[in-house]
Amino acid sequence: MVPVPIFPLLTHSRFLTLIHVVKLTHMEKGNSQKKERMFSWMNSKLEVRDTGKYGKGVFATENLQKNDILAMFGGYVMTLDEESLLPENIRDLGHQISDDFVIGINDVADLQSVDYFNHSCNPNAGINGQIFLVAMEDVIPDEQICFDYAMTVGGDEPYSLECLCGSENCRRVISNTDWENPELQKKYRGYFQWYLQEKINKLQQAL
Ligand SMILES: [Zn+2]
Repeated sequence: MVPVPIFPLLTHSRFLTLIHVVKLTHMEKGNSQKKERMFSWMNSKLEVRDTGKYGKGVFATENLQKNDILAMFGGYVMTLDEESLLPENIRDLGHQISDDFVIGINDVADLQSVDYFNHSCNPNAGINGQIFLVAMEDVIPDEQICFDYAMTVGGDEPYSLECLCGSENCRRVISNTDWENPELQKKYRGYFQWYLQEKINKLQQAL
């Protein structure tokens, strides 16, 4: 049995600091001030565009290297139950960080660029730790950035999504149990959300 490395877990304080990436912009207009709040961060070499097929997506505008940080997810901490009560158009946008919790927006007015990363069964990006999205390979301009939702979605809450990625290896349906697939565990080793990697490690140690 080869020991499987466990992701370095962000310390509590650093985790909280990163979740609460807040940008305050003060615009002087007479006596009024406007505060712009952001919960996340996206690499300036990326932008949101229309995919022409299935709504918006995130695309590269410049070359990126393997392992470059593409984004940091953030937002309000919510349970899966709380997320299920959100308006339908933002209900599935939360970034799952444990069996029971997601981080994300709870108001459509707070939609962020990082909310537009699409799933692909043949992704070029993966998760590092809990909130980082990194390039799994070099990326060229105009390439869409996608990760596999199997890297983040788990827990007991049933979830399924029809996949329109068009990859040769498309699974057609994405679900909350995809991370249990041994082929995907091998393919995405090092790119799973931390809580899923811990579960995979335990399963493999029990063999
Ligand atoms: Zn697919």
